[in-house]
This record gives sequence, structure tokens and C-alpha cells, in this order.
Amino acid sequence: MIHCLWLLAGLVPREIAETMDKRKLEHYRNLLEARRLNLRTSVARTEEDGRAAQVTDSAQDIVDRASSSYQKEFLFARSNSDRQFLQMVEHALSNIAEGTYGECEQCGDEINERRLEAVPWARHCISCQEKLERGELEQQAQEG
Ligand SMILES: [Zn+2]
Repeated sequence: MIHCLWLLAGLVPREIAETMDKRKLEHYRNLLEARRLNLRTSVARTEEDGRAAQVTDSAQDIVDRASSSYQKEFLFARSNSDRQFLQMVEHALSNIAEGTYGECEQCGDEINERRLEAVPWARHCISCQEKLERGELEQQAQEG
């Protein structure tokens, strides 16, 4: 948005503005790809831990079995959230490829750069995110 204003005001030549955007996209892509690699490793490792926990299940007393099933639930929850996280990261990467990265999926506004820097996989701008967390957007979606 700021760039558009600069362009309109003629303060930044078009080519320079585009180069800056590409560099920024590249920066976010690097962040996201590093995160994706991390998550894939973590998901794979959690699945291995889960299999190992299952193998040792048969020859255990009740206390051990309880703690082992707790461990399995914990691993399951962890792998689920990793997987969801991984999906968000992959979604952001595909947005970069499609040229729609950095747009709020709710209102179409640009997502604040500082927010992207902290949360490169963000799908919503701050105000839409806050509405989502308060449950206001879901209500709107139901009404519409
Ligand atoms: Zn928004």
C-alpha cells in the first residue's frame, strides 16, 4: 500500500519498487522454507516416536501403560499441530508462487510487514485476526 502511494507520488521509480518487493518476497520465502524443513523433520520424528511407543506397549504394567498412552496422546497432539502448522507454511509458500502473498484472506488488505516478519505464515491482517479470535468473523461468515 505504501509503495503504491510512493509510486503515485512518483517518489520511487517502478523498477526499484519491484526489485524491493521481490527481495522481500525472497526473504519471506527463505524464512518459510526453513520453517517447512524444520516441521517436516519434526513431523517425521514424531511419527517414528509414535511407532516406537506402540512397539513397547505389550509388555508393560498398568502404570507404564498409562504413561505410555499419555505419551502417545501427547505425540499425537504434537504431530497434529505440527502438521497444521506445516499446512499453513505451505499455503503461504504457494501464495508467494501465485503472487498473492501478504494479502489478508478476509479483507484483501496488505498484512503489516512487522506482522509478516514475526509470523510469515499469517493469513490475516491484525484487525481480521483479532476479529477471528473474538469469533466475530465466523458469525459474519454464517450470516453471509
Ligand atoms: Zn484483514
